[in-house]
Amino acid sequence: MADATTSAEGSAQEAVPGVADDGASGGSGLLTPEQEAEIRELRQASYQTRRSTVTALEEILYVPLPVLDHGFVRVIDYFGDDGAVVQAARVSYGRGTKRSRDDAGLINYLMRHRHSSPFEMCEIKLHVKLPIFVARQWIRHRTANVNEYSARYSILDREFYVPATENLAAQARVNRQGRGDILGEGEAREVLELLRAESERAYDRYRVLLNEGDDGRLSDPERTGLARELARINLSLNFYTQWYWKIDLHNLLHFVSLRGDEHAQYEIRAYANVILDILQRWVPLTSAAFLDYRLGAYNISAKGLAAVRRMLAGERVERESTGMSSGEWRELTTVLRLDGAQGETDAA
Ligand SMILES: Cc1cc2nc3c(=O)[nH]c(=O)nc-3n(C[C@H](O)[C@H](O)[C@H](O)COP(=O)(O)OP(=O)(O)OC[C@H]3O[C@@H](n4cnc5c(N)ncnc54)[C@H](O)[C@@H]3O)c2cc1C
Repeated sequence: MADATTSAEGSAQEAVPGVADDGASGGSGLLTPEQEAEIRELRQASYQTRRSTVTALEEILYVPLPVLDHGFVRVIDYFGDDGAVVQAARVSYGRGTKRSRDDAGLINYLMRHRHSSPFEMCEIKLHVKLPIFVARQWIRHRTANVNEYSARYSILDREFYVPATENLAAQARVNRQGRGDILGEGEAREVLELLRAESERAYDRYRVLLNEGDDGRLSDPERTGLARELARINLSLNFYTQWYWKIDLHNLLHFVSLRGDEHAQYEIRAYANVILDILQRWVPLTSAAFLDYRLGAYNISAKGLAAVRRMLAGERVERESTGMSSGEWRELTTVLRLDGAQGETDAA
């Protein structure tokens, strides 16, 4: 059993860019005073353990890393490191018996060949605060353990997401599931005013329905007030919720590969990018392999590969001769950065 101490041992006291000395919100105002106090207390304690720990991750343990306008991701706990992946892959050898170059090579090999179970040996627990529409996308990842803030039990804060002006865009014309041109200044201002006004109004009505003041007393003594589980139903998708989310490294990489991809919606991508930063602190070798073989890689179909081989042999290849769809061809020529010389440019 590890002992809690209040010594400066370990990394909890080290300065981290963008993080206050006490490790709380870093002055971002993301947390309640109670949460700030709790984090301060947690970060003042340190433990002795025989398990391996990761200094760079210890530095940001419990600290809210800001995302969007009111959201954050905090690392609450973790288990394992790059060494645990290597150890599982080698099964019988302990860590430290191989040179780090070998570890990197082995992790690259595992990633390249989708030998995924060694990555399942590591786990991480995050506290995430996110808008409800992001949570709806996030929850589709079924391989995590989730415990969400209960708006049946507690009152939600007046916190709703309003996009930054540069993220207000029109419907995309080619990819029907995405965004296209950025809105002009005037239209963007109107959109922001509308979003803010509607959200404020919805929250005001929520509090009226609850009929409960911040002090817990009835706002209007003449009314009973509506149950929390019902009062919330008129709030919109941009209101924030929170959850604890625990997942193994393999499935976390799967999450980041889907939600950190440029096809994912900007808002969930913002969270995936913060998680990618966390991954780089936690498992730098695995992260490097992931960036190389997954996030920065591109999957070419058999037809696409045949087309590339013909191009490399010096042939001028037209899409019609490849059996590929317009969409596939567009993606392949874009990723290969081919100009019109190798094929058509279509807008289908
Ligand atoms: C850009 C983008 C657009 C999307 N658009 C839509 C959309 O329009 N509509 C929509 O409904 N969803 C949409 N999704 C969600 C998507 O279809 C997946 O549900 C989501 O990305 C989770 O992926 P997953 O199932 O692989 O992940 P996880 O749930 O984490 O599962 C990981 C893997 O485990 C296996 N697995 C887990 N649970 C089961 C199970 N019960 N049965 C079988 N295998 C299982 C599967 O192999 C799966 O790939 C979109 C996702 C992205 C990234």
